[in-house]
Amino acid sequence: MRPARIHMHYISTRGGVAPVGFADAVMMGLGTDGGLLVPEQLPEFSPETLRAWAELPFQALALEVIAPFVGDEIPRDDLAQLIERSYAGFSDPQVTPLREADGRTYLELFHGPTAAFKDVALQLLGNLFEYLLERDGGRLTILGATSGDTGSAAIYGVRGKPRIDIFILHPKGRVSPVQERQMTTVLDANVHNVAVRGTFDDCQHLVKSLFRDLPFKEQHQLGAVNSINWLRILAQTVYYFYAWGRLSGGDADHRVSFAVPTGNFGDVFAGYLARRMGLPIDRLIIATNSNDILTRFVASGVYAKAQVHHTLSPAMDIQVASNFERYLYFLMDEDPTTVSALLADLDEKGQLAVGADKLARVRQDFAAGAVSDTDTLAQIRRTFEASGYILCPHTAVGSAASADDPGAVVLATAHPAKFNEAVREAIGREAPPPPSLQGLMDKDARCADLDASDLGLREHIDRTLAANPTA
Ligand SMILES: *Cc1c(COP(=O)(O)O)cnc(C)c1O
Repeated sequence: MRPARIHMHYISTRGGVAPVGFADAVMMGLGTDGGLLVPEQLPEFSPETLRAWAELPFQALALEVIAPFVGDEIPRDDLAQLIERSYAGFSDPQVTPLREADGRTYLELFHGPTAAFKDVALQLLGNLFEYLLERDGGRLTILGATSGDTGSAAIYGVRGKPRIDIFILHPKGRVSPVQERQMTTVLDANVHNVAVRGTFDDCQHLVKSLFRDLPFKEQHQLGAVNSINWLRILAQTVYYFYAWGRLSGGDADHRVSFAVPTGNFGDVFAGYLARRMGLPIDRLIIATNSNDILTRFVASGVYAKAQVHHTLSPAMDIQVASNFERYLYFLMDEDPTTVSALLADLDEKGQLAVGADKLARVRQDFAAGAVSDTDTLAQIRRTFEASGYILCPHTAVGSAASADDPGAVVLATAHPAKFNEAVREAIGREAPPPPSLQGLMDKDARCADLDASDLGLREHIDRTLAANPTA
């Protein structure tokens, strides 16, 4: 039996956005009140439905999971085609295959074009942007800053697409050579890389200042693809359903636990949502590196900002996890007033705290563990020596944080060859690169160098778009 089709509305975690439909929620990204968009109501999938889905190929399953969130805004056949196209470029026919190594199960999320899990959502987001802009008219200039993985996945999501330009800023000389080349070797006319002479913080400040300039934002239809876009979360719920189906054979009594390397709380929040929609998930283990704000929250109920540490798992070097607000919303029984008050605390005092009853709920929802660089390297070494399988450092954090629960499926968030410095340090050799990372150093590249000045960036964007008018 199919769940009843509902017309899905999205509201803000802070209560200041009138309900919008799916397309508006995706195009809006961040809520206009500064909150994050969430569905007014989650669909619930029955055990019979889940059993019927257990053997579906990834793409067919994605259609079933995503369609109720779209409602009747996009015809089902069109949605099916968008999904089909989004995963056609993945190098594994299963899209997100499971893999056993040293007694653990890994859910490999890195078979997309940039060899990290962000492709799973950003390939679909790019195609959806293209579809909606074509249907409704209009164009989009995506502007973002990256310290590594997100930039290339965003670029690959929209390269060559009409009606879209993308500007991605990275700190010059401060991203890994592989990551830099993954971005700058994309030569499509709508892709504009900018190396900023400064730090990642400088890049973020530049982006924020341009977004605050409302006339400029309006003129160029500026948009973002950061980790708070609702579609990114939604697309990431699919692989939890996929893994569960493969491991349970559709038996609703078979509960599966997941260990999730976590930075911005997007991936693990997707798992939380999947469970709320009825998926038999047992434990969800938040795995952090020494940037452990989430681990401390699960231990104490206090969410307190601290200094960012640089680690061997750089995609998780984050202190304030942007999707945490969505969890807070559900934890506070979907009450935007309480959420806003807690976030005001975080703003003013650098921390927020929840009461004992809520903390008990947090601990039912999540387990958490923080893993040092030393233990990350030890995990890469142990898994390699036992099985020959090479973990990326983020995945190793997930594996080490769930060592007491070897039945938990570890989300393998990146291909190890993207982080070969850590791999070499752990096992004295490098992971062989997948086809998507081969020959990067020999390809032509294009990138503009700019000082960290918002005036300079503004002029650069004006000039570039005037020279490359898109449809
Ligand atoms: C982005 C990223 C993460 C963190 O994911 P969040 O959704 O931000 O928690 C983990 N590992 C890799 C390789 C990443 O690129």
